[in-house]
Amino acid sequence: VTSARAPHSIDERGLDAVARALKQCMRGRVERELPLARYTTYKLGGPAALYLEPADASDLRTAATVIQDSEIRGLAVLTLGRGSNVVVSDEGWPGVVVRLAGGFADIAADEGEPETVAVGASATLPLLANWAARRGLSGLEWGVAVPGSIGGAVRMNAGAHGSDMAATAVGATVFEWPGKAPVEREADDLGLAYRSSSLNDGDIVLRARVHLAADDEGAIRARMETFRRHRATTQPGAVQNAGSTFKNPPGDAAGRVVEAAGLKGFRVGGARVSELHANFFMAPAGATAQDVFALVQEVRARVNDAFGVELEPEVRFVGRFDEPAARGAEVVGR
Ligand SMILES: Cc1cc2nc3c(=O)[nH]c(=O)nc-3n(C[C@H](O)[C@H](O)[C@H](O)COP(=O)(O)OP(=O)(O)OC[C@H]3O[C@@H](n4cnc5c(N)ncnc54)[C@H](O)[C@@H]3O)c2cc1C
Repeated sequence: VTSARAPHSIDERGLDAVARALKQCMRGRVERELPLARYTTYKLGGPAALYLEPADASDLRTAATVIQDSEIRGLAVLTLGRGSNVVVSDEGWPGVVVRLAGGFADIAADEGEPETVAVGASATLPLLANWAARRGLSGLEWGVAVPGSIGGAVRMNAGAHGSDMAATAVGATVFEWPGKAPVEREADDLGLAYRSSSLNDGDIVLRARVHLAADDEGAIRARMETFRRHRATTQPGAVQNAGSTFKNPPGDAAGRVVEAAGLKGFRVGGARVSELHANFFMAPAGATAQDVFALVQEVRARVNDAFGVELEPEVRFVGRFDEPAARGAEVVGR
C-alpha cells in the first residue's frame, strides 16, 4: 500500500508560530488542526496539522519560503485536490496540507492555437470536459463523471473509457516545494503511465496544458452521455468511496478478480466492498479510515491466496495506519 509517511513528532509551538506568521503574510487561508474529512469523497480522516489554501502561485511561494525558513521546514507536505483518490488517516496529516482552491481554476484557450487549453489545477475534470464540449473540443469526454481536480488527474494520470490524461496533456506548470519559481514541464517530463506519474509529493501541479481536437459538439456530448449513463448503472456515485480501489492487474479487471474471490459485500469494521462494483470500497457513516485500510489489506491477502494475484492499490493512503495483523480479530465477514 502506498502510504505517505510524515514525521511523528511535531513541534506544536513551532507550528503555532508559523501559522501566525503565515496569517500575516498570506492572502489565502491558514488553519491549524483543520479536519480534512470534508475535503474527501470518503468524508473520512482527521485534521491537518497546518492547512494552507494559497490565493495564487505567489501566495504559495510565500508560504513555502516562510516554512522553509522556520523550524518546521522538515514537515511533510501533502497536496490535496478534490480528495477523490485518497484515504486520510483517522489521525489526520501531521504535516502541511496545501489545497488549491478558486485562485487556480481558470480555463483558457491558447490565443494563437485554440485547440491548446491551459487549465488551472483546481478545476475539475467534469468542468473541463463540459467547457471543452461547448467549444467543440474533443479529448476529455472520459472525464465527464470523474470527480477529480486537474492537479490530481495529472498526478494520477487519471483516465477512463480507453483514454487518460496522457492522451491530451502537453505539459504542466509545477511548483516544486519549496522551490522558488514554478517550472514548466513538458509531457515527457511528467512520466505519465497507467494511473501514475513521476511527480513526487512535493511537486504541486498549478496548471496543465492539454491539446484537444476539433469535433462536432453534438458528437462530443453524445459520447459524454454514454459514459455518464454507463457509470450511473455500474458504479456507486462519488460518495463514501474513492473510485477504483485497485489498479487493474495486467490483462484483467481488479473488480472481476475481487468478485471472483467471493468478496462482493465483504466487510471489515464499517467498510465494505460495494455490491454494485467489487473494485469500489464503501465507507458508510460509522466506518473509519482504518476500516478501509484493513479492508484493502484483507481483500489483497484473500485475492492473493485464491489466485496468486498481487493487487496494487490505486487509492492513496495518507498518514498513519495500523498494519492489519494487529487488528485481525476485528475482521468480519459478510
Ligand atoms: C466515484 C469515483 C469515480 C472515479 N472514477 C475514476 C476513473 O474513472 N478514472 C480515474 O483515473 N480515477 C477515478 N477516480 C479517482 C479520482 O477521481 C482520480 O484519481 C482523480 O484524478 C483524483 O483527483 P483529486 O483532485 O481528487 O486528487 P486527490 O484525491 O485530492 O489526490 C490524489 C493524489 O494526487 C495528488 N494531488 C492532488 N492535487 C495535486 C496537485 N495540484 N499537484 C500535485 N499532486 C496533486 C495528491 O497528493 C494525491 O497523491 C474516481 C473517484 C471516484 C470517487
